[in-house]
Amino acid sequence: MWEFYTEPEFASRLEWMREFVQEEVAPLEVLWPHHHHRVPPPWLKKVIDPLKDEVRRRGLWACHLGPELGGQGFGQVKLSLMNEILAPYQWGPTIFGVQGPDTGNAEVLAHYGTAAQKERYLRPLLAGELFSAFSMTEPHGGSDPTGFRCRAVRDGDGWVIDGEKFFTSNSEQAAFLIVMAVTDPDAAPHRRMSMFLVPRETPGIETVRPTRYMGEPAEAIDHALLRYNGVRVTADALLGEPGQGFEIAQTRLSGGRVHHAMRAVGQARYAFDMACERVLSRTTRGRSLADQQLVQQAITDSYAQIEQFRLFVLRTAWRIDQGQGYTPEVRRDIAVAKVLSARVAHDVVHRAMHLHGALGVSDEMPFSTLWQLTPGYGIWDGPTEVHLSTAARLILREREPAPGDWPTQWLPARVAAAREKHAEALASQAAEAREAGV
Ligand SMILES: Cc1cc2nc3c(=O)[nH]c(=O)nc-3n(C[C@H](O)[C@H](O)[C@H](O)COP(=O)(O)OP(=O)(O)OC[C@H]3O[C@@H](n4cnc5c(N)ncnc54)[C@H](O)[C@@H]3O)c2cc1C
Repeated sequence: MWEFYTEPEFASRLEWMREFVQEEVAPLEVLWPHHHHRVPPPWLKKVIDPLKDEVRRRGLWACHLGPELGGQGFGQVKLSLMNEILAPYQWGPTIFGVQGPDTGNAEVLAHYGTAAQKERYLRPLLAGELFSAFSMTEPHGGSDPTGFRCRAVRDGDGWVIDGEKFFTSNSEQAAFLIVMAVTDPDAAPHRRMSMFLVPRETPGIETVRPTRYMGEPAEAIDHALLRYNGVRVTADALLGEPGQGFEIAQTRLSGGRVHHAMRAVGQARYAFDMACERVLSRTTRGRSLADQQLVQQAITDSYAQIEQFRLFVLRTAWRIDQGQGYTPEVRRDIAVAKVLSARVAHDVVHRAMHLHGALGVSDEMPFSTLWQLTPGYGIWDGPTEVHLSTAARLILREREPAPGDWPTQWLPARVAAAREKHAEALASQAAEAREAGV
């Protein structure tokens, strides 16, 4: 059984969000495109704090946590619908308190944090008072955490962290980092690592390079290469148990992948809306672009990709809400959604940009940001190939190999079996044919 719908009361909140995002968030995007991840200066605080307050008044602030974790308990379907609306503008998640990497960090703090850790880190994070970062990927390889080298070694009742981490997003603005480090190199691969809460000002954290995402200016969010040089933390910096790092990373990424998938839907839809307007507005050789068959194909292909993908993500979100949690079926569909995010965003944004001609590739339309994001979809939270493998493994574990050398659908065997089953009818058919002289 499967069913999902938007309750009328929530639909009206989504309607409010759509207008609010258009009226209040879109202007921030064009004026201060790279400030959404920064602690705002006083003049900007004056602009954005009233917007955040309005979101809080509407009960739509930081909705990613369940009620048991101090959040609204909206569940994944509602969150997905919200993320779709916020997606076109990088400021959207910040104004609604659901910006990455803070959302994932808040989730793991809520799940695994002690009361003291929650008070110190989670409370101000949810209040939007500070930013955080997640430091997992290493320079020599990110897809395979079992090869990580960054070490944390016990020292008295604390730990000392040594090693390098690459692409730690927003490390410059973060008040604290969640760092994954090897604590027991001899343990089974997925029990080797632990997570640590490390205040950003801790001595020994060196920014080797504040790497930026391609095409972004120096004031944009950094994805730094960090070196942890004998970074000393106290025992209470450990998040969860020693050896629980891999499990915590998985918890962190699973829900986030659904949110990201719905943001891919929202960004694709934004591009698609621009494409529709353009093809209805522009003529060439005496005909509207909308009347050119190849353009019609582009429009229909984009519509079909967005709608199929959207329903798939919503069904995945619905399955999680049904209490299924992260079962193998859900993990299979999250992996597929991750793969589709990159494809759908790429195809739809490219068609929309292309249909705008030179204007589309200029800096006078918002396509460059959308387009730059598309390769990222195939890389962050693990590359496409890894998710293809995960999905295939989970799809195939439900299936059986053929019992013998030939496939079960091998036609010669099926014909022989059908002949045996209907031998009597076949004999009558043959006799009738003989009588008729056929
Ligand atoms: C915008 C952005 C933000 C990010 N933010 C963070 C962050 O805040 N914190 C953090 O820790 N990390 C972050 N990352 C890093 C991200 O998680 C890693 O880039 C990702 O896990 C891939 O690791 P890698 O870059 O080392 O690629 P590699 O592991 O070197 O993989 C490179 C390529 O090899 C191929 N490949 C890898 N594995 C397989 C396989 N099993 N089968 C077939 N082919 C394979 C794929 O083509 C893959 O793209 C971010 C990345 C981006 C793009």
